[in-house]
Amino acid sequence: MLPSSTAHCRLAPPFPRRLLPSASEPLRRRPLILLRRSSSYPDRRRLLVRAIDAAQPYDLEASLALRHLRSNSLKIAVIGFGNFAQFLAKTFVAHGHDVLAHSMQSDRSSAAAYLGVQYFPDPNDLFEQHPDVVLLSTSILSTPQVLSVLPLHRLRRSTLFVDVLSVKEFPKHLMLKYLPREFDILCTHPMFGPESGKDSWVGLNFMYDKVRLWEEDERIERCEKFLNIFSAEGCRMVEMSCADHDKYAAGSQFITHTVGRVLEKFGLEESPIGTKGYEKLIDLVENTKGDSFELYYGLFLYNKNAMEQLERLDLAFESVKKALFGRLHEIYREQLLEDAGDGIRRTMHRAEQNRRREVAQKLLHNGGQTPPNLSSETKAW
Ligand code: NAP
Repeated sequence: MLPSSTAHCRLAPPFPRRLLPSASEPLRRRPLILLRRSSSYPDRRRLLVRAIDAAQPYDLEASLALRHLRSNSLKIAVIGFGNFAQFLAKTFVAHGHDVLAHSMQSDRSSAAAYLGVQYFPDPNDLFEQHPDVVLLSTSILSTPQVLSVLPLHRLRRSTLFVDVLSVKEFPKHLMLKYLPREFDILCTHPMFGPESGKDSWVGLNFMYDKVRLWEEDERIERCEKFLNIFSAEGCRMVEMSCADHDKYAAGSQFITHTVGRVLEKFGLEESPIGTKGYEKLIDLVENTKGDSFELYYGLFLYNKNAMEQLERLDLAFESVKKALFGRLHEIYREQLLEDAGDGIRRTMHRAEQNRRREVAQKLLHNGGQTPPNLSSETKAW
């Protein structure tokens, strides 16, 4: 029987208001009720209430919450526990999932312990834990080698494989090649990283493609539970094919990384009179320089659209330079030809116009045909 001192205790609501805290609000320990021996009654134990609403085994609220969390939690095994995987694991843990990890080259055990992740130096031991989800977060370049040596036979036949590589056609084909056909495959790309997503994931894009998902309620539900981590954090969920992803990413993410790296080499310095635009350039360098060169090289090598975008960027840079220098030349030429006849001047002017039109065609249409409705600005070239 509880002593009367507990009579004023507030009754906890029958069910917790929110079971899943956000990434920025990790699971907190709840206050404790302490049993203390009272000095005035040495032979009798008295319950001193130090805090209310404590989680006790007989507490209905606590056991319901625990059961709910457990029923929703996934056992997620991460392969490649580097920078990005650690960033993701923090949120997985905060959502109540069991996170296990393995890295092939480095010992990541202390990072894992810090994040509440169970670390396995041997992938055989990891896979014998029979995770629901195996998440590949290896570098793009090492993924074929990693996939070829994983002890897949130790996993359950119904395992869901997910990858987070920054290119998508490449890991899709690798997984289809190496994984048994009973495995589900989900290709994803969180379009953010430890720098851009450090405060919140709200509004950040999360791309996914359900490449192979067996028509079974449990498997479908498991895939939704995994995706729900990102949607619950406020990500903008974008379902699209891996091929479309690579097309869009080459024109946006690869170009962003390239410009960031060029500006890093250029060496942007803090300016006492910097503009907002300049601050954004400095931010861009900060955002991209944390990523390994290997990651950047992977974006180039394993996205067939990247080379074309790099050439377009090069052409665009050349054409901007030409536009500047062209003006200078014109003024200079006007002066030189002041005394020359009109005929010579007209011929030179026409040749220059033709040359510029060719550059504009290549730049705007990747070397294709110029459509009839060229903008007036381009026509004037
Ligand atoms: P990363 O350099 O692309 O990958 C690091 C991971 O790859 C480490 O775990 C490392 O293993 C493993 N690895 C590298 N070479 C290996 C090899 N030869 N054999 C076995 N494992 C090897 O850096 P990251 O930023 O952590 O990215 C991980 C993945 O997430 C990449 O595929 C990347 O495209 C993708 N991604 C990254 C971001 C981001 O913002 N960083 C955003 C979205 C997606 P060890 O742990 O043993 O060193």
